[in-house]
Amino acid sequence: GPRDGDHASYEGLRLRAVTKEFATFTAVRELDLDVPRGSFFALLGPSGCGKTTTLRMVAGLETPTSGSITLAGADITHAKPYRRPVNTVFQSYALFPHLDIYENVAFGLRRRRTKDVDTQVRDMLDLVELGSQARKKPVQLSGGQQQRVALARALINKPEVLLLDEPLGALDLKLRRGMQIELKRIQTEVGLTFVHVTHDQEEAMTMADTVAVMNAGVIEQMGAPAQLYENPRSTFVANFLGQSNLIEGSVVRRDADLTTVDMHGIAVSVPTARTHTDGERGWIGIRPEKVLVGEPGESLDAPGNTIPGGVVTDVSFVGVSTQYLVRMPWGQELQVFSQNTGRSRLFATGEQVELSWRPEYAFLLDFSQDAS
Ligand code: ATP
Repeated sequence: GPRDGDHASYEGLRLRAVTKEFATFTAVRELDLDVPRGSFFALLGPSGCGKTTTLRMVAGLETPTSGSITLAGADITHAKPYRRPVNTVFQSYALFPHLDIYENVAFGLRRRRTKDVDTQVRDMLDLVELGSQARKKPVQLSGGQQQRVALARALINKPEVLLLDEPLGALDLKLRRGMQIELKRIQTEVGLTFVHVTHDQEEAMTMADTVAVMNAGVIEQMGAPAQLYENPRSTFVANFLGQSNLIEGSVVRRDADLTTVDMHGIAVSVPTARTHTDGERGWIGIRPEKVLVGEPGESLDAPGNTIPGGVVTDVSFVGVSTQYLVRMPWGQELQVFSQNTGRSRLFATGEQVELSWRPEYAFLLDFSQDAS
């Protein structure tokens, strides 16, 4: 095919038209993926979307039904797992319980009769900030520390790619957040390629340079975290990464920069993104934190989109913000997250309000984007 010739020149990890079928069920469908060398890449998606299956094919624990996988220019589609320059860190750390931390990390090097074992192990333990714990047994460490030992044990083999399968899944929320920062720091220091599988959007966005959002065996969208968040291309991505208000509308007029959309009888502007034709119906998407709430007639964000006739139906104070539900004249309840700056006026349930947002914050999605 047209994309076959370029394998040898590519330094990173490359999947081409990779499909995995289990009996009659297709877990991964025609997947194309390029992971540049040295990047931190996240595969993000709900349970059952095919993330782990994809990772297992890269590790060699599953064989693709069709398609090819290349790493640093070599075709590894059918290579034995131990022949691949790949290491995996799983959610269950699988440390050797009878060996101390030092020996757990040294294990791979000793097996390969490497020189300088002591220097390498000490450097690695320092990297994961466990230098002082070297002589402890795994049971004497916390979950987060054990996870760092597992990481050190994988990193010391200097794999071309490190695969991480929900490695922080067993940790409590606070430890998890700390480890996300740690993992990112370590990845930057060692400069290896990390491929991280998670169903946690905040985790993926915190750590990765590039996020691929998977759904039902295919990649829905791939890009930098901010790019996915600001310009989701499907309602799935719009809702899986954060939250979105999705409001039905139909295109009235397309101009170079802005497209005018009729939203339940109100004309609103959205950035012109694709070739929307006049009369075409779709979703107007707007993030809750991009919506301003004000008193009727206040026109908070002129020259923005102003939507009158709202009634507050719920108010939740959550510290950094106040979260409102506002029922609109067409019956839909919209979410509004209002930053608590100390200057903003608070609204109560039952109050009449006007919503507004700047046109560039909204996005327009085709109904057909969600046909799959
Ligand atoms: P999770 O986050 O729950 O691990 P996932 O996105 O990693 O989900 P996979 O483990 O890749 O999903 O599974 C994708 C689909 O393939 C699921 O529906 C699963 O039931 C199915 N599947 C996975 N392995 C097998 C197998 N060996 N035989 C049959 N079906 C399988």
